[in-house]
Amino acid sequence: MSATRPTDTTSGSTTIVRANGLADDVYEAIFNQLMSLKIPPGARITVDSLVKEFNVSQTPIREALGRLEGEGLVQKTHLVGYRAAPQITRRRFDELYELRLLLEPNGAAKAAAAMDEAKLAVLREAAGVMAGRESNDDHVHYSTFARLDAVFHDKIMDFAGNQLIREMLSFQHTHFHIFRLLFHWRVTEEALDEHQALLDAFALGDPDAAAKAMRAHIEHSRDRLLPAFE
Ligand SMILES: [Zn+2]
Repeated sequence: MSATRPTDTTSGSTTIVRANGLADDVYEAIFNQLMSLKIPPGARITVDSLVKEFNVSQTPIREALGRLEGEGLVQKTHLVGYRAAPQITRRRFDELYELRLLLEPNGAAKAAAAMDEAKLAVLREAAGVMAGRESNDDHVHYSTFARLDAVFHDKIMDFAGNQLIREMLSFQHTHFHIFRLLFHWRVTEEALDEHQALLDAFALGDPDAAAKAMRAHIEHSRDRLLPAFE
């Protein structure tokens, strides 16, 4: 691939200097650019441009892109190379939320019925880190929130006990796709209150309250993101 080819990635230069966990750092940096739309949906991603931007060799870049491909954020096409995954369509968005509404309130009810102190501590930890994570870079914060929200919801489905349903939801990478729709603080701040309502229901071991809180959270999440299609 020609080094002079114009790229779709942005000009912001982030030099990664840490030797430890270089592959992880490169992965995080590209992940953040994808989630914050610095690399827009559908944009071409060239290995050469990332090599220059991060001042690293091709190996960690290729490794990171492979990992992101597995997470549905990057697509690799024969002869074309890498692209950021396209933005989900309105139809796909509706389908995703219908799927979530079918599965997650029921999962929350089952998780509440199976709740104990250890499980509650895991969920409180995930929700607490989301609320408390400070960062100078809003883009990083936002993408971190997206990942933690994915973990929070995945843990609930784990505790619900049906691993097939858990895998099915996890395979959609829902949180990465929906958080890419709209970069807005309202998306994260309002979600925190809704997560707290879920935690309260889990603390009580109340399946009905947990199902209701999950349904409300998913419906509100959908309403917050719908303006992205206007
Ligand atoms: Zn959530």
